[in-house]
Amino acid sequence: MINQPHAIGIDLGGTFVKYALVSQLGDILFNGKLPVGCDATLEDTLDAIQESIQYVVDEAAKKGIELKGIGIGSPGVIENGVVLGGADNLDRWENIDLATIYYEKFGMPVFADNDANVMGLGETAFGAAKDCSDVIFIIVGTGIGGASVINGQLYGGYKNRGAELGHLTIQHDGIPCSCGGRGCLEAYASTSALIQQYADKTGKDVKEINGHYIIEKFKENESEAIACLKDHTDYLGHGIAGFINTFAPQKVVIGGGISEAGQFYIDMIKDSAFKYAMPDCSTNTDIVAASLGNNAGCLGAASLVIKHL
Ligand SMILES: [Zn+2]
Repeated sequence: MINQPHAIGIDLGGTFVKYALVSQLGDILFNGKLPVGCDATLEDTLDAIQESIQYVVDEAAKKGIELKGIGIGSPGVIENGVVLGGADNLDRWENIDLATIYYEKFGMPVFADNDANVMGLGETAFGAAKDCSDVIFIIVGTGIGGASVINGQLYGGYKNRGAELGHLTIQHDGIPCSCGGRGCLEAYASTSALIQQYADKTGKDVKEINGHYIIEKFKENESEAIACLKDHTDYLGHGIAGFINTFAPQKVVIGGGISEAGQFYIDMIKDSAFKYAMPDCSTNTDIVAASLGNNAGCLGAASLVIKHL
């Protein structure tokens, strides 16, 4: 294992920088996380990433492991290792040349991409879509993020500004979305949307509900929870059918906390997606839950390096 190439995977989130030492086969030899407060400045965030990389560099040296590079997953629009913007919850997180900053500090290649893209690549390299070349990944949470892997490569459109799969329109002139548009998949099928729909139906306070609660009520055969989860998976199925008709992926991988609800949840989405998708497009497609869990970000970031080996 020591003789395999290894990489550093860095996953920048809203509250933590996670770091990992990852082998070419996707084994995590060492990992951890550093808190990044919600009041962190740009300098604090850059320092936390540097400190995280240093931990992994030190650990690799202790183990006698040669590192091939650093992969970073970050919120926002990222082109050629530079964060252009689009991450409003991080202080001044725009026009940050991550690749150059950390190359100059550590002297090894640095690759960076959007966090959802990186997770999709990680699931393709090491997770639920291992050995697939054509994969659609969506992560269902507060919003809906996505990635498309085409012929083994992330496809983000011209200058990597696309792959916003959560903002596929599923309803003409529908409800407003966080992106400024209307009728997006995210506005109907995110976990936040599900919670709002359940609150509207039951009169409960959204603050007292989460995805887990609705799943539990569904399992108890509560009619409101059943109706809301049927709608939620049907909305997702509509969106996924559109992705299947466009990309004919081998796998559609669904991540995010709610995707861990159980196989029944994936089966409900499958029933809906395959009902709406064109049979000629969906014949080779399976829909599966993500398998890398909380490690998807770091593993995906490391896979940015590993795929360049
Ligand atoms: Zn939108």
